[in-house]
Amino acid sequence: MVLQRVGIIGGGQLAGMMASAAASLDLKITIQTPNSTDTAVALADHTIFAEIDDVAATAQLAEECDWITFENEFVDLVALSKIPGAVFRPPLNSLTSLLDKYDQRCFLQKLGLPVPKFCLGHDLTAADWQFPLVFKARRHGYDGQGTFIVRDAATLKTLQQQFPESGLIEEFVPFTCELAVMAARSITGEIAVYPVVETVQINQVCQRVYTAIELSQAVQTQLAEIACTILKNLDMVGIMGIEFFHTADGQVLVNELAPRTHNSGHLSIEACATSQFAQHLRAVSGKSLGDPSLTCGAAVMVNLLGYEESTSDYSAQRQQIAAIPGAHLHWYHKPEVRPGRKLGHVTVILETANRARLIELAEQIEAVWYPHEKI
Ligand code: ADP
Repeated sequence: MVLQRVGIIGGGQLAGMMASAAASLDLKITIQTPNSTDTAVALADHTIFAEIDDVAATAQLAEECDWITFENEFVDLVALSKIPGAVFRPPLNSLTSLLDKYDQRCFLQKLGLPVPKFCLGHDLTAADWQFPLVFKARRHGYDGQGTFIVRDAATLKTLQQQFPESGLIEEFVPFTCELAVMAARSITGEIAVYPVVETVQINQVCQRVYTAIELSQAVQTQLAEIACTILKNLDMVGIMGIEFFHTADGQVLVNELAPRTHNSGHLSIEACATSQFAQHLRAVSGKSLGDPSLTCGAAVMVNLLGYEESTSDYSAQRQQIAAIPGAHLHWYHKPEVRPGRKLGHVTVILETANRARLIELAEQIEAVWYPHEKI
């Protein structure tokens, strides 16, 4: 049998976990990344060492591969659209309204979906807004980079000078929790929606993800319906992470769309019948979708974030965490540690839906991982 080949633009942990899922689907993976130390290099079948935006390298990727997908959405759609014969999944058209946070908000609003009140920085009229508000760089924001909670006019002015192309301004949403849904769409339009999870961000960076959340069936259904509406309207092929704010009066607002595998879906590797990585590859390679449902009672995922500059591999801490019953530790083998850098993650699965126990486990992991009380 001739194995089919998927190309991935990017070589970080998301590409790495996709490469790990490929073998069971009889797929080969080629990645495009400039860094020989990237997580995915050791896991992919082949690497084209080139910058992510090197279009000639992506043309070579297209020659080697049946389909090309993305580790993240920070790509030059115009340049990619000129590569003859390249089949991108998701299709480039699915991404056009998502790369800029303002365009993304407009897209969601046009669909009639609930979003926070927003405007462009230079359209801000003081009378309609009050502090705190949120300023977001329109492009290339991730893990809180480019997202600022603004509490006074002086800070706002500084940000507006720093981002002359104008940022996205949003109301600050006093959410009670943040929720996320992963959902995938196949080339035939079939959609698979994963169970709703709760995500916990600190300083705008994801720290924990829980299943077993107390959420009415009506809200769960609403989130699944929103996911389906978005995927259909984008003509999406592949998986997507959709982040929500949940407010005290029971409303949900869509915060952000990530047209790719996402941190809030990492627990699907152990907790669901089909992991988000396998699901994305299934969609990209034209297969039918797998079952997204939970195969355990509950799960929690904890990110292992850098808290210092170091070259340590933290083997003692890792061993201690891996010894926790039900724990699955994923280590990304990054050669350099920086504060806030995602170095790995741990998922612990339980047989029963025990929320209090999940919180205890997350605290136990963080107590081992961080040298002092961090959360
Ligand atoms: P990124 O693209 O960096 O992930 P997000 O827009 O998802 O940026 O923001 C990161 C985090 O910042 C969110 O998960 C949330 O905790 C906080 N945040 C973002 N927008 C708002 C908002 N409008 N109101 C309150 N908190 C927000």
